[in-house]
Amino acid sequence: MPKIILRFILGTLLAAGAAIAAWGESPKGKKVLMITDMEGVSGIFSIELQCEPWKSPRWEESRKLETGEVNAAVDGLFAGGATEVIVWDGHDSGRTLSVVDIDPRVRLLQGSPVPFAQPFDKSVSALVFIGQHAMAGAKDGILTHTMSASDVQNWWANGKPIGEIGTWTMVAGERGIPTIMLSGDTAACKEYLDLVPNGECAEVKSGVSRGAGYMLPAPAAHALITEKARRAMERIAEIKPFKMQGPVELRIESTTAAEHPHLARPGVEQIDTRTWAYKGQTFTEALALVLGN
Ligand SMILES: [Zn+2]
Repeated sequence: MPKIILRFILGTLLAAGAAIAAWGESPKGKKVLMITDMEGVSGIFSIELQCEPWKSPRWEESRKLETGEVNAAVDGLFAGGATEVIVWDGHDSGRTLSVVDIDPRVRLLQGSPVPFAQPFDKSVSALVFIGQHAMAGAKDGILTHTMSASDVQNWWANGKPIGEIGTWTMVAGERGIPTIMLSGDTAACKEYLDLVPNGECAEVKSGVSRGAGYMLPAPAAHALITEKARRAMERIAEIKPFKMQGPVELRIESTTAAEHPHLARPGVEQIDTRTWAYKGQTFTEALALVLGN
């Protein structure tokens, strides 16, 4: 083959490679998906006072606190070797963070509905939680709940109690993505480390009840989060994805008897007046029945 043609082909391949890398598909890239929430941010202890958009008197302060922790984590992730960071705005259906004050290096996923499996594409190398709270009913967890429904009492995956931490860790794990880090209160860290024993946890507050606890001042919380995020990124190869073996039954118990909107689907079964079961070959399949997307 004449050299000039070979050079042309190589040039085209390199250009194509660069274009793919720009979209985060490079196998050498370390793309991180970050799921954010507000209830696990240091300084947050009340839904009414702080967490309801445009209703809570301290909403703007809460947004600042959350954005500070997110940006601190972004700093640590890039320092530890991340090549791309996607931030999924998780509190109040993606209406909390803002492109005005988020770290300019990230891509922000906002709004709703987001088909839940969409952000977990195969180019993602790791999952991180920032501002995460523990599951409904967790002991001394600040503002504990499971998903947005305030009437959820328990979720189980094949008999194992889970909340949002377990849910997204299992969706990621099924795709071979490890959950390398979490920031939140003591109860959230305990729940995370139960699933990922050698993961990195930034414990930014510690509850004494569902509505009270000891808080790290923002600069201290940020320093801790940056350090843990950097270390998690450096240790990414040591942290294994959590895989729930299929078939998977998700069981949901509410505090009150209620009709479930997806009752008519195959795989959905009523157990008793307050409990429903959702069955799939995988965790993702069972979760799709629950969430309806
Ligand atoms: Zn939230």
